Amino acid sequence: MKVLKNLRVEIPEIKVHDRIELPASETAVIVVDMQNDFVKPGGKLVVPTAKDTIPSIRRLLEKARERNILIIYTKDTHYKRDPEFEIWGEHVVKGTWGWEIVDELKPLENDIVVEKTRYDGFYGTPIDDLLRVYGIRYVVIVGTVANICVLHTAGSAALRWYKVIVPLDGISALNDFDYYVALRQIDFLYKGILVESVDGIIFK
Ligand code: ZN
Repeated sequence: MKVLKNLRVEIPEIKVHDRIELPASETAVIVVDMQNDFVKPGGKLVVPTAKDTIPSIRRLLEKARERNILIIYTKDTHYKRDPEFEIWGEHVVKGTWGWEIVDELKPLENDIVVEKTRYDGFYGTPIDDLLRVYGIRYVVIVGTVANICVLHTAGSAALRWYKVIVPLDGISALNDFDYYVALRQIDFLYKGILVESVDGIIFK
């Protein structure tokens, strides 16, 4: 075996929009895994830049709540002896502090919180059913980790023909390469819409 290291590769083009208008009644916001273990100092699997996305995600949620937009949170959820711990170590064990969503983004009464056991927010969860029941066609996805749970959830949404919108200031990754991989895949492969900032997302 050999290990490829320190490769320098050219990132192909990535299209980023300044502004997008979305119909409020057909749009949902999905906040992926903004839990203490991934975001807060002392967490078990901290993504250093995840905390920097909190203000943007808050602004997005405020705007969404003003328009009564469906808000779904995913909570990565593991139980004792989860096989995923062999990959990542123990994290977000159900019922622990690390499993809770960060205080700054606490779900409100009418929000939906979905527990998921793998990277993909649709896998083994009612998200697809919920989106259909509420007549959703557009999903704005924010949260962490960009190339892991955000990307799998975005891909899974796109494969079901939902239009995926991802603001660049709403997602975070462990390093720049992973961040840009996610952007490239969302734009090029899943035909999602990348928006420079949550402030460029207009609900009408
Ligand atoms: Zn996990």
